[in-house]
Amino acid sequence: MIRKSANEMAASLASGEVTSVELTKAHFARIEEVDVKVRAFLHLDTEGALASASVIDERRKKGEELPPLAGVPLALKDVLVQKNVPTTCGSKILQGWRPPYDATVVKNLKKNGVVILGKTNMDEFAMGSSTENSAFHPTHNPWDLTRIPGGSGGGSSAAISSFEAPLAIGTDTGGSIRQPAAVTGTVGVKPTYGGVSRYGLVAFSSSLDQAGPCARTVLDAALLHEAIAGHDEKDSTSIDAPVPKVVEAARRGDVKGVRIGVIKELQGEGYQAGVLERFQESLDILSGLGAEIVEVSCPSFDYALPAYYLIAPSECSSNLARFDAMRFGLRVGEGSAEEVMNATREAGFGREVKRRIILGTYALSSGYYDAYYGSAQKVRTLIKNDFEKAFLSADVLVSPTAPTTAFKIGEKSDDPLAMYLNDIATIPVNLAGICAISIPSGLAKEDSLPAGFQVMAPAMADDRLYNVGAALERELLAKWSKPLLDFAPELA
Ligand code: GLN
Repeated sequence: MIRKSANEMAASLASGEVTSVELTKAHFARIEEVDVKVRAFLHLDTEGALASASVIDERRKKGEELPPLAGVPLALKDVLVQKNVPTTCGSKILQGWRPPYDATVVKNLKKNGVVILGKTNMDEFAMGSSTENSAFHPTHNPWDLTRIPGGSGGGSSAAISSFEAPLAIGTDTGGSIRQPAAVTGTVGVKPTYGGVSRYGLVAFSSSLDQAGPCARTVLDAALLHEAIAGHDEKDSTSIDAPVPKVVEAARRGDVKGVRIGVIKELQGEGYQAGVLERFQESLDILSGLGAEIVEVSCPSFDYALPAYYLIAPSECSSNLARFDAMRFGLRVGEGSAEEVMNATREAGFGREVKRRIILGTYALSSGYYDAYYGSAQKVRTLIKNDFEKAFLSADVLVSPTAPTTAFKIGEKSDDPLAMYLNDIATIPVNLAGICAISIPSGLAKEDSLPAGFQVMAPAMADDRLYNVGAALERELLAKWSKPLLDFAPELA
C-alpha cells in the first residue's frame, strides 16, 4: 500500500479497501523501519496524525462527501508552522518553540483531510542545497545513503522517495523544492509567486519564498497543489485569482502543438554529461509527441546567481532579526538584553546563516545599498524581461533542473560557492516570480542516479507545467524497463 501513488491511496480509501488509520500506521511502520538510515524527519506527530486519520475514517463511515486527498498522509517541511507541533527550521535557535497557530498551507491541508505525519529535516532556515546545513543531522539520499538528498528540502524529498510518505510540502526560494526532487527521482513544483500563501512560512527571503508540492507522480503533485493554493487575505502578496486548473492539466498530458523553448544558457559547461543526455532524451520524446522545439536565449541569466546571493541574504538579514532571544525558542547567557541576544545568536545560528546575515547586512548598509542591493534588483528586472521575451516564442521553457546528480555527503560542505552552483538553473524562476516543475528524467549513465527535467511557465500558467509534465512522465515510465517509481533500491 505505501508504494502506491497518493491518488491510488485515495481511491483505496474511498472504496473502503483500507482505512486512513491503517494507511497512517503503515507509513509510521515504514518510518520506524528505514528512517534510522534516511533521517528524513525531525519530529513525528504520531498521536496527532492518528487522531486526524480516525476523524476522517469516522466521517467517511457516515457517508460524508470528502475532499480528494482526505485520509492520505503527508510529510511537512519544518519551516511551516503547525499549531503546538515543534517547528525548528533546522535551527537550534528555535529549539523548544511550539507555534501557537497554523500556517495557511497547514490550515488548507487540514481542511482537505490530509494527515500530517511530522516535520521534515532541512538546511537551517532553508539556506543550502544538501540538507547538510541542518543543525541536527544530515539526511541521506535513499538511492545511495552516502549521498545528499538535495536541499534545502532534503527531508521532504527523501521521505517521499523512501516511501515514508506519498506526499510532502517543500519551500522553494532558489530551488529547494526542484533540486531535491531532481536528485531523488521525484516530482517537485514551485508554484507561481503569490499562488500559495506564505502566512506561517518562516521567512527566509520574502520576495522569493514559495511553498509547493513534492510527490512521486505529476498527478499527485497536482492534487496537492490544488489543496494548498489559493488567495489568502493574511498574505499581502497572495494573488486574488482562481487557482490554475492543474489537476485537469495533469490528467490531460497532451503536448501536440505546444511550443517548448530550450534555454541556451542553461546547458553545456558545468552540466554532467549523463544529465544532459537524459535532458536530450526527454526533448526527443516531447518532440515525438508533437511538441515544437525551439531554442531561446536568456543572456541575463549569467547574472542570476550573483543577484540572488545579494537579494536573498539582504532579505534574510532583515527577516532573521526577529530571533532576538526574547520572543522565540533558545535563550542563553546572562547580563543585559544585548548580551543575551548576542550569546543566543552566537549559539543558535549555524555558519551558513551567519555568513548570509553578515553579507546581507553589508549589502544593505548605507553607501553600499545602491551598488549591491540596488544593482541586484536591476538584474532581476533584466531576468524578468528575458523570460517575457522567451515566452513570446514558446509556451513553456525547459532545462535540466540541476547540473549534476546527487553528490557525496561532505563533498561540497566546505565550499559555499560550489554549493551555490547547484541552483544555477532554478534561481532565475524565483527571481522572476514565475512557476516551474521538476520531473524525473531517468538515470544518468555515469552513476545510475536520478536526473531532473525542468519545465517553466509564465506566472499563473502553472497548469502548463502539469500538462507537459504528465505527457513526459507517461512516456518515460513506459520507456524505462525499471520503472522510475521503483526507486530506493537500498531500502527495498
Ligand atoms: N540553495 C539555495 C540557497 O541556499 C536555495 C534555497 C531555497 O530554495 N530555500 O539559498
